[in-house]
Formats: sequence, C-alpha cells, structure tokens
Amino acid sequence: MTQEGRLRIGIMGGTFDPIHMGHLILAECAYEQYHLDGILFLPSGNPPHKRERTDGASDEERLAMVSLAISGNPHFILENDEMEHEGYSYTYATLERLKSRHPDTDYYFIIGADSLQSFDTWRRPDIICKYCSLLAAVRDESPMEDLRRQAEKLSDQFGAKIFFLDTPNIDISSTDLRGRCRLNLSLRYYVPEPVRKYIEEKGIYKKVPAAKDDHYGKI
Ligand code: ATP
Ligand code: MG
Repeated sequence: MTQEGRLRIGIMGGTFDPIHMGHLILAECAYEQYHLDGILFLPSGNPPHKRERTDGASDEERLAMVSLAISGNPHFILENDEMEHEGYSYTYATLERLKSRHPDTDYYFIIGADSLQSFDTWRRPDIICKYCSLLAAVRDESPMEDLRRQAEKLSDQFGAKIFFLDTPNIDISSTDLRGRCRLNLSLRYYVPEPVRKYIEEKGIYKKVPAAKDDHYGKI
C-alpha cells in the first residue's frame, strides 16, 4: 500500500459538534488496523454542507473540545489548518496544502458510511482521491454490500483507493447529542469526561430551545 520510509498518517475530519466516542473509536481502529504513525484530527472550518447550523458550538469551542478529547493519546494530533482559513473549508484544498507541506507522507482519510455514500457530492473528489486513500467504516447498520458497491463506483469514477475498517456499529451522532443537551440529558459516556464538563460549564447546545420533534428522553 505504501513505500518504505514514508509516514502513514490518518486524517479524521469532521464538524465535531461535539466530538464523541464514535469519532474516537473510529480513529483508534484506523490507527491499529492500518499501522498508521498518527491521526490528525481536522475540525472543519465552515463546512459547505452545514452552512445553516444555528444550534452549534463556536469554532473555538469545537476546537477546544477536540483538544480535550484527544489529549493523553500521543498518536492523536490536532490539525487546525481549516480553522485558520477564512471562508468555507473544502477537504480537497486542505489535502493539497498538507501534501505540499509533507510530500513524503501518505494520507488516509477516515470516513463513516454516511460520508462515503455522499462522497461524490463533495467538491473535487478526484483531487481528494489523488492525495489520499479512504478508510471507510460502517454506520447506522448500513449493509456492507451497499458500502462495497459505493466503493467500486468511486474507484471507477475517481480512481479512489478505498479500504474498510473493522469497527463496531457505534450508534452515536453529534446531532443526537445536541438534542440530548437541549433536553438536559446527560452526555456521560457518550463523550470523554473533560468534554462533557466543558459543554456543561459553558452551557453549549442549550441556546436553542428543544424542537417539537426532539424525541430524546421521551422514552
Ligand atoms: P452530525 O450529526 O452533526 O452530522 P456526526 O456524528 O455525523 O455529526 P461528523 O463530525 O459529521 O459527526 O462526522 C465526522 C466523520 O465521522 C464522518 O465521516 C462521519 O461519517 C464519521 N462518524 C461520525 N460518527 C460516527 C459513528 N458513530 N460511526 C461511524 N462513523 C462516524
Ligand atoms: Mg455527520
């Protein structure tokens, strides 16, 4: 998969609003299963597909939460490249910058099943595929068959190099966690403890009242 002497770095990109155990387990599985040298956590600056976010944390808060979540793991590294750039952040442009700074590194972009399914709607998938391999994980019980079919399609269309991760299906999403916060439900065990405390102290995700169809906790 790669040449001798080159660094193998995983990239865990996301909005991380907030970062949760699903992201962390995914990154750790990728690190172990593909013998990576480290994982960059790359919080997206202003992701084009989430422009209308109104109930989220600020960029600084998302950055702080990622920092708290990964501290203590020596092979997890914060990469704030996208936050340093004005305007919308695009993965292809970030990869171009990383690759020009580190030409001797092979990058592995870690991606959940939902993102793999919508990958062809991302800006310049061809450039992304040129600069990195994709490590894909199941999510929401998505059938492996569908993932393999999508992987084949992306490989024909963009020359994507896609490898699969063997991960448990972790049924956690940031959207669900924001919903729990609005309803004063605990995030204990869904996010690392320092992240839970930070969210609580700052009152993040409580700024917007619970939506009528918010079902968390109404069991
Ligand atoms: P939101 O609900 O706000 O979209 P999210 O939980 O999907 O948040 P993101 O920051 O959007 O988190 O996700 C970043 C990446 O991590 C994406 O590739 C996504 O598919 C993947 N991911 C997030 N949560 C999981 C999970 N529980 N299992 C597998 N992949 C996940
Ligand atoms: Mg998402």
